[in-house]
Amino acid sequence: MSMTTIKIAIVPGDGIGPEIVSEAVKVLSCLRREFGLEIELEEGLIGGVAYDETGCPLPDKTLALAREADAVLLGAVGGPKWESLDIQVRPEKGLLGIRSALGLFANLRPAILYPQLADASTLKADVVSGLDILIVRELTGGIYFGQPRGVRTLETGERQGFNTLVYSESEIRRIGKVAFDIARKRGRRVCSVDKANVLECTELWREVMSEFGMRNSDVELTHMYVDNAAMQLVRAPKQFDVIVTTNMFGDILSDCAAMLTGSIGMLPSASLDQNGKGMYEPIHGSAPDIAGQGVANPLATILSVAMMLRYSLDREDLASRIEKAVRDTLDQGLRTPDIYTEKMTKVGTAQMGDAVVFALANQT
Ligand code: NAD
Repeated sequence: MSMTTIKIAIVPGDGIGPEIVSEAVKVLSCLRREFGLEIELEEGLIGGVAYDETGCPLPDKTLALAREADAVLLGAVGGPKWESLDIQVRPEKGLLGIRSALGLFANLRPAILYPQLADASTLKADVVSGLDILIVRELTGGIYFGQPRGVRTLETGERQGFNTLVYSESEIRRIGKVAFDIARKRGRRVCSVDKANVLECTELWREVMSEFGMRNSDVELTHMYVDNAAMQLVRAPKQFDVIVTTNMFGDILSDCAAMLTGSIGMLPSASLDQNGKGMYEPIHGSAPDIAGQGVANPLATILSVAMMLRYSLDREDLASRIEKAVRDTLDQGLRTPDIYTEKMTKVGTAQMGDAVVFALANQT
C-alpha cells in the first residue's frame, strides 16, 4: 500500500443498503483494476443493523473508521423493525450523528433527468427533459438543530411544542461559498431561497448572501422566497442552475426536485465538510418493501461514487467515466423495475451493477 492510498469507509446500513452498496463496490473495484485508482475499502456498521449488533446505531468503531477515511459511502438506514425504539437509538440517529460528528454542513443534491428516462417523470417531458439542477442545502444548522427546543406544558395545562430557527453569519457565508464554488463549474448562477419577508433569521440569510454575491460577481446571484421556489420548481424547473438554501427548506425542496426526475432510485447526494471530505449516499431510504429481493436500483449509489470522485478525490476524469457508463447502460435499454417502461429490458440489482461495470471497463 502506497502513501497515497485513498481510504474509503463503506457503511451499507439497512434494507436495500447492502444490496446497492455491493454494486457500487464493484464499480470501485473496477476503477482499481482498470484505471489504477489506489483505494482501500473498509466496512462499518450503521443504523438498525448496528443497533442489533452493538446496541447503538452509530458505534464508536464506525465513527472512528469514518473519521480516518478520505470519504464515506453510505447505503441507507431504517426500517419498520426499529421504528418503535427509543428515539435516541433509532437508526436515523446514526445518520444524523455521523453527519454532525464529521461536520458535514453542505448537502449537495443534483436533480438530473436522463433523456432516456423522460417518460418516468409525472411532468410533461418538455418541462423536464435535460433538467440539471443542483440543490445545496445547509445541513448542520437551522431549525433542525437550534436550541431551545422541546415540548413544554403551559400554566393552562396545555402542551406547546417549540423549535428555534438560528443561523449565524459565518454559517451562511460558508454554505454560500460552497454554492458559488460549484456554480463556477456549472452555469455560474445561484438562486438563494429564503423566507425573508416573514423570518428575521432568513432576512439575515438574504443580507449575508447578497454581500457575498457582491464580492463574487463572476457568479449571478438571485433570491427567491421558498413558496415561490416550490412553485417554480414544478412550473419551470429548468430556470435553475444552483439553488442554495437552509436546512429545512432544502430538505423539502430537494425531495420535490428529485421527483421531477420521476426516479428516486437514480439520484445521488454528497455531504461535505469544510475541507471537501464527504459522505456520499443515494437520496432514497432503505426501501424495506423491496429489500432482499434483488430488484433495487443501484444507480443512485453508483452515481454517488461518481460524486465522491468529483468532490472529495479530485478525479473528475473517473467521475465522468462512471456517469458515461451509466448513460451507456441506460442506452442499452436496461432498466430495474422502478424505471422500467415498455419495450425495455427488465433487470435486477446485480445485473444492472454488472452492466455498468462492463461499460466502464470497456471504455476507450
Ligand atoms: P424509501 O426511499 O426507502 O422508499 C420510498 C419508495 O421508493 C419505496 O416504494 C421504495 O421501494 C422505493 N425505492 C427507494 N429506493 C429505491 C431503489 N433504489 N430502487 C427501487 N425503488 C426504490 O422511503 P420510505 O419508504 O419513506 O422509508 C423507508 C425507510 O427508510 C424508513 O425507515 C426511513 O426512515 C428510511 N429512510 C432513510 C433514509 C436514509 O438512510 N438516508 C432516507 C429516507 C428514508
